[in-house]
Amino acid sequence: MSTLRMVRGAYVLIAASLLLTVVSMLLRLIIGALSSNEAVLIEGIHASLDVAITLAVLVALTLVRSRLARGFPYGLYKVEDLVTLVLAGILFAIAIELGYEGFSRPPSTPSMLPMIAQATSLAPLAGASYLKYVASKKLNSPSLRADSIHTVGDVAEGGGVALGLLAYAMSSNPIAYRLSILVAVAGIVAAAYEAGHESFLSILDLPLDKSLIDRILKSVESSFKGVKVESIRARWAGPVIFVEMLISTHPLKTIEEASVLSREIRKHVRQLNPNIIDVTISVEPTLRKHFKVCLPQDTPAKDSPISKHFGRAKYFAIVTIDDLKVRSIEVIPNTAKNVHAGNVPKQLLVGARIAELLHKNGVTDVIVTNIGEIAYSLLVRHRIVVWRVKEGLRTDEIIKLFLDFKLERLYEPTREESWARREEHAHL
Ligand SMILES: [Zn+2]
Repeated sequence: MSTLRMVRGAYVLIAASLLLTVVSMLLRLIIGALSSNEAVLIEGIHASLDVAITLAVLVALTLVRSRLARGFPYGLYKVEDLVTLVLAGILFAIAIELGYEGFSRPPSTPSMLPMIAQATSLAPLAGASYLKYVASKKLNSPSLRADSIHTVGDVAEGGGVALGLLAYAMSSNPIAYRLSILVAVAGIVAAAYEAGHESFLSILDLPLDKSLIDRILKSVESSFKGVKVESIRARWAGPVIFVEMLISTHPLKTIEEASVLSREIRKHVRQLNPNIIDVTISVEPTLRKHFKVCLPQDTPAKDSPISKHFGRAKYFAIVTIDDLKVRSIEVIPNTAKNVHAGNVPKQLLVGARIAELLHKNGVTDVIVTNIGEIAYSLLVRHRIVVWRVKEGLRTDEIIKLFLDFKLERLYEPTREESWARREEHAHL
């Protein structure tokens, strides 16, 4: 079955459930009023609140699927919350007043009719609950499922009221009638609280489910390596949830990579809860805190100038930087320089061995004056960042420039060494 037909089918089920709840409501209100039975009247008012709750869910489900919602999403759902809250308050007040009246003056002549009306009204309610349950499965809607469970509770509570009325009709004992009133009032208090408090929290932008926020945070951090959730907020509006999160990731990710990452996280978060209809992700720009910077030298000293060569330099100064402060400077000999080439082009071997040497020493950044294609590619392959300075600068001057972010980042080698061309020359 196509999704559209499935959605339409679910809507028919919800409409049918609404109709059944209206039947139950009318039966209670009419018979309750005709027989001046407060317990049944309160039950009728409760059913009208139930109609409103299901209507609100239906409106929200429609909005989620409509284009209108994209224009002004938050406010639209808030209107619904506001209507629900006001309605819950009004119906609750009426029910309390009726309850007080019924409790203090039980009907003088007990009759079977209100009990029969009340008992009969339970059948359509049970049907409505079942239809909403089936529709909730089709639409994968937790709010509809919650509504269906609420109606199951209503059937049980309504049964309690009917039993009390039966006992009253048979025994004429006012205690039985008062018990019916108490059960009916408890039922509508629960319904008004359920509908009202969620709307209230939503209007104030308070989290309805704090554990959801925690769940999203843990799930994102465990599923996406290197991602840290800096802050997360969820706004409930009607039955839908908007999530906003600020994440940080590896500082060397490009903006494009960060955008792909955001898209994946967005998809992941939406799968965690079907009520989440929108996820806004901001990536916080971050700076690396730890650097191990390598620069080539011809004489091994902290203040000797940078070598003009990279691969053929005699030494490498390795500067450890933490929190933008130099922690140590170590100079190591370039052991990769003197390789015996055999059949492999020498420069290829030198480049490969230097990249390996630096990678093993945990180097994160390399500063050069010039660099060839092979060495450059092999450094990049080890995720080492390459920077360029002018010739003649001393190591200590260069480190100062590096800490001030004044070096030029190299996105390509400074010298071209076309291996293909060299091969051609060799054959000529
Ligand atoms: Zn209810």
